[in-house]
Amino acid sequence: MSEKPVLWISRKLLPAVEERARQNYDVRLNPEDKVFTGDEIVEMSKEVDAILPCHSEHFSAEVVARMSDRVKIIANHSVGVDHCDLAALKEKGIVVTNTPDVLSKATAEIALLLMLGAARRANEGNRLMRSGEWNHWGAMFMVGTQMTDKRLGIVGMGRIGQAFAKIVQGFDMEIHYYSRNRVAPEIENGAIYHSELDDLLKISDFLSLNCPSTPETYHLMNAEKFALLPKGAVVVNTARGTLIDETALYDALKSGHIAAAGLDVFETEPGGNPKFSELDNIFMLPHIGSATVETRNAMGFRALDNLDAYFAGKEPGDRVA
Ligand code: NAP
Repeated sequence: MSEKPVLWISRKLLPAVEERARQNYDVRLNPEDKVFTGDEIVEMSKEVDAILPCHSEHFSAEVVARMSDRVKIIANHSVGVDHCDLAALKEKGIVVTNTPDVLSKATAEIALLLMLGAARRANEGNRLMRSGEWNHWGAMFMVGTQMTDKRLGIVGMGRIGQAFAKIVQGFDMEIHYYSRNRVAPEIENGAIYHSELDDLLKISDFLSLNCPSTPETYHLMNAEKFALLPKGAVVVNTARGTLIDETALYDALKSGHIAAAGLDVFETEPGGNPKFSELDNIFMLPHIGSATVETRNAMGFRALDNLDAYFAGKEPGDRVA
């Protein structure tokens, strides 16, 4: 066995991250960037001391039970850890970390892009330009909804929710939020807290979902919840696809009760929901919230910081199990 711990980086990461990983670890890379199945994860676990995965690798209880005891730490390259059965990993004695903070601003930027794109009909406009079919202009043409001076509801006032609230300050929006706990006044910065989700929904002209995917947040937005939003509301999801009942969203968009949606995440990934392509009033992106060079490097370095701490016998800064 080599002296350096063996680290499996399960997806292809940016060059600077892989280069730094080589300094302290005997790395197993994935130059073809294939996605590993549960069985393949189990096989790989026999050869490695640590894994640096993305959210595309699923550590279900069944996979974890079959993994080798050799693996000591899973240092995720994501803040969301819904692809990991944390209870099963904890029981097996595997340390789990994530990469908070470093992706908040990039994801908040994507939330803004989706909100503007949905509200101002970017999907239709872009398609019209690219098809060469733009042959008309009028005062009624492509009229959308304006963000400024409206009420924004944020579900989950955590790191990304806060970063988004900060970005939209310049839009003169009245910011409201619902979260499990009320945040400190200096973080609220004037935002209005609602202790019940329904109360937030009733006044949200624009809604941004920013809470994690957990059993409690599964289909948090269903037909009943969409009906509570004011008619013509705009809904944005940069968190996880499981938060939304996609059939209910489709129906609410088709009926016009919801004017538009901006989605970066879907119940089925990769791929998304083919039904959504039928609707002009959805602006979609393929889960690219954190996809900037700056942020992807920072995420990789943060995961390596956690690994370095663990193998130096210290507590990793971002331990979640
Ligand atoms: P975070 O700092 O943990 O914030 C999550 C917030 O959600 C917290 O304020 C938490 O409240 C709240 N929350 C948790 N459970 C809730 C519930 N049942 N009902 C209402 N609020 C609840 O996490 P973050 O860094 O902002 O990231 C949020 C999520 O964004 C991640 O979990 C991930 O899934 C997603 N994400 C997506 C992308 C992308 O590429 N699209 C990129 C990064 C992250 P308490 O603090 O009171 O518990």
